[in-house]
Order: sequence, then C-alpha cells, then structure tokens
Amino acid sequence: MPASAPNTKEINWLSQLELARLKQELGSKPQLSSVARAMRSHFTKVDEALCASDNREGCQPACKKHCSHCCHTIVYANFAEIAAAYIHLSERLTKAQMEELKSTLQASSHHLIKAYNAKEPQTITCPFLKDGACSIYEARPSQCRNTHSLNDYRCRQAYDEPSNTERIIPVVPERQEISRLMLSAVASALHSAKLDHNLYEFSTGLLSVIESPAVLQRWLKGRKIPTTQA
Ligand code: SF4
Repeated sequence: MPASAPNTKEINWLSQLELARLKQELGSKPQLSSVARAMRSHFTKVDEALCASDNREGCQPACKKHCSHCCHTIVYANFAEIAAAYIHLSERLTKAQMEELKSTLQASSHHLIKAYNAKEPQTITCPFLKDGACSIYEARPSQCRNTHSLNDYRCRQAYDEPSNTERIIPVVPERQEISRLMLSAVASALHSAKLDHNLYEFSTGLLSVIESPAVLQRWLKGRKIPTTQA
C-alpha cells in the first residue's frame, strides 16, 4: 500500500504495474478461476490506492454505510467484473437464495426497460441495495468503488430532484483518475487476452449469467455477450 496519496506519475505507474500483473494472471487462455483471482486482487489494489487518496486532508469522502443516494442509478461493468460478482455470489448463496436473486434481477430488468422507454426521468434503484446498504459490497464493480462525494447534502438534493441535471457533486479528481486508469488497465488486459472488454449494464449482465452460466464459457472463448451494452 502506498505510504502517501499517489500523484499523477505514481497513478500512471500504478496502473502500468496493474496492467502487467493482470496480463500475467490472465495468461493467453484465461479460465474462470484466473479471472476471479485476478479481479479479487484488482479490487484490493484499487481500494488501497483510493484509500491512500482519501487519507489526505480535505479529501475524505462524506460517504458512509446507509447513505445510498448514489445507488439509484444504472451501473455499468465489464464482463470480468460481472464474472467475479457471479463467482462471489455462487460461493455464498444457497440454490434457493440464488433463485430469489434471479427473480429480483428479472423484476429489476423489466423496470429498467420501462425506465429506458419513459419520457420522464425515472428513479432506478440498484437491485443489490438492501436496507440502505450494498449486498454485494466486496464484489461491487469499479463504478461503485469509484463513486464518492465530498458533500452528502448535495447527493440528497440530486436524488430528490433527478430531473435537475445542473447539480454538481463535489469529488476528488485524483480519485477519479485512479479509478479511470485502473479500469483502463483491466480493459487492456482483457483485450490482450482476446476477451470482450465492453461495458454492460451490471444487473442484467449478471442475470444473463445466473440464467445461463454457459454465457461465461462463451465470453472466455472471446464472444460478445447478448445483454444491455453501455
Ligand atoms: S452494486 Fe452496490 S454499491 Fe453499486 S449501486 Fe448497487 S447497491 Fe450501490
């Protein structure tokens, strides 16, 4: 873990190191186990780098458990993140719990389609939000790890008035940069391994895997995934 907050040069260096590590971990013919291992380590590295940035004076996010205004949005993730989330869930949930989750994601997917087609902005709640907290926290995708705010009051205002696009949430630019470059390292590593590295809507991507785990094998063979793409 870096001793102090990384500067731009260090962030670049960090992401280059991460790219090299991911390429080595994935190899030329990645397996599901190597993808899950690579993404677990990746999330740890991202969290460590973000934590170092947060430690600086004036850069501490106002975010805390049960403050979840930012979880009412569409989440995008690459398929390595979706695969890692699926492995995380399948190691923890019983068959019955997985079936329950499938129903929740199917209902959420119908709501998403309606929201896409609606004339007015709709409130979209992430299906993983349970009792005001993330139920997939350890395996949440990069978009969620990156999301932060220096002012929770502004987040509440944005949530209360979704049609007002003028509202600005104050953020830490270095934090954004760390996330952007680390995500780009994953995309480059997937590209090198000849895997689809596009972004997909997270919950419907995960639903497609829960409904048919064979989707993962198709992705590992370099095919695209038939779901909602960013
Ligand atoms: S995955 Fe978790 S952190 Fe991300 S939007 Fe959903 S509930 Fe929030």
